[in-house]
Amino acid sequence: DPAPIGADEHATGQDDTEHTGPMPVVAVVGRPNVGKSTLVNRFLGRRAAVVQDVPGVTRDRISYQALWNGRSFMVMDTGGWEPKASGMAASIARQAEYAMKTADVIVLVVDSSVGVTDTDLAAARVLRRSDRPVILVANKVDDERGEANAAELWSLGLGEPFSVSALHGRGSGDLLDLVLDALPEAPREQEETGGPRRVALVGRPNVGKSSLINRLAKEERSVVDSVAGTTVDPVDSIVSLGGEEWRFVDTAGLRRRVTTASGTEYYASLRTEAAIEAAEVAVVLLAADEVISEQDQRVITQVIEAGRALVIAFNKWDTLDEDRHAQLEREIDRDLARITWASRVNISAATGRGVNKLAGHLKTALAGWETRVPTAELNTFIRALVQETPPPARGGRAPKIKYVTQADIRPPRFVVFSTGFLEPGYRRFLERKLRERFGFAGTPIDVSVKVRE
Ligand code: GDP
Ligand code: GDP
Repeated sequence: DPAPIGADEHATGQDDTEHTGPMPVVAVVGRPNVGKSTLVNRFLGRRAAVVQDVPGVTRDRISYQALWNGRSFMVMDTGGWEPKASGMAASIARQAEYAMKTADVIVLVVDSSVGVTDTDLAAARVLRRSDRPVILVANKVDDERGEANAAELWSLGLGEPFSVSALHGRGSGDLLDLVLDALPEAPREQEETGGPRRVALVGRPNVGKSSLINRLAKEERSVVDSVAGTTVDPVDSIVSLGGEEWRFVDTAGLRRRVTTASGTEYYASLRTEAAIEAAEVAVVLLAADEVISEQDQRVITQVIEAGRALVIAFNKWDTLDEDRHAQLEREIDRDLARITWASRVNISAATGRGVNKLAGHLKTALAGWETRVPTAELNTFIRALVQETPPPARGGRAPKIKYVTQADIRPPRFVVFSTGFLEPGYRRFLERKLRERFGFAGTPIDVSVKVRE
């Protein structure tokens, strides 16, 4: 049996990984005696964890540092919570609320040998609202016969129950994989960076980047000048648009109109890359009076590969006549077919036309970029979809999709757990359907597949 929790409370960590800053947090919730502590010890394994109190929280919740497949994360155990029998449902609801506020992934443990109780239902009711991934664990499935009990937990509305035996370790490694896949790259505190949203204004030479930033930054310049003794050009421009401030990153060069004699394109492309990296959303400027070129496509690809939200702005709209307009529509259909999801806006940096619409498009794209679909909703949707259009069979056997989780936002990334390989065509189908159902306007999304028997 695993060692009782808390035995080595003040042990020092022997974790050999480097980590800087806060780690993602996995909260394990559930009513008493379902096996939370046993499961947490499974997560921690032999490696006794550093134990620390979560600041500002009672001793009822203790976080342990865990390491799995080279990734460090915190496991928040709520096992010490022993509510009075009368207020059990309310207590567990509070526990779930707390987990939703603080954790990156929530694991709800249910005792499948007992079945669904009112307390479990109370927890599930709260967790169905979670914008963080929730993994439903059917514990005490000690053998094959227990699987039937686990199926009953579908009724909690949290998607497919993942059956394990915390006591014997059955399925616990796979569960950890699932948890890890659901963890975001960065813990949630780091996502909430304050200040204006960061925008990269990019595009090939002569599309009008300088003209646009100079138009946008007009108001800002006076602000900068009013700061006593400021002579240094800021690298970024803070621009007021649509009643909000936006940080256009690395625009000093654009505003100064520096022209380098040689290797211009190479440096321009490095600068574009750096700006995109630093930004949350990129505005790719295209010249409406010219054919959409290879070079334009390369900039768009850079944004997609960096996983940033994308707004396509057709500049020089003032020059358009009817013929060119019709031609451009055809080019858009042909050359921008891969990014039909991108937000598009027509502007003129020269006259100012449409420039005020930019803010709305930036907001749309950022909202899509940050969309998190609740796990239950996601799985309900995918289940119906797969029933209607199952993945095609390969070599006589059709793969079964077991579970889908949104592992990340900014941009949204999905992991599909399947019993077999899914054809690229079917993956594209899933992506298309996810977009049809949940939107994701203005953002690339990623759908990857994990094969599990
Ligand atoms: P918690 O306090 O609610 O987190 O639950 P515990 O971890 O203390 O477990 C409660 C009881 O259930 C203990 O007696 C465990 O040994 C037992 N238990 C935990 N997991 C399993 C399991 O997978 N199978 C069986 N049969 N018993 C389990
Ligand atoms: P950059 O190289 O992307 O920074 O492009 P510039 O801002 O230097 O603009 C290139 C040329 O296009 C300049 O001659 C601008 O005056 C012109 N230009 C920029 N925006 C517009 C526009 O909206 N309409 C028209 N007609 N010309 C524009």
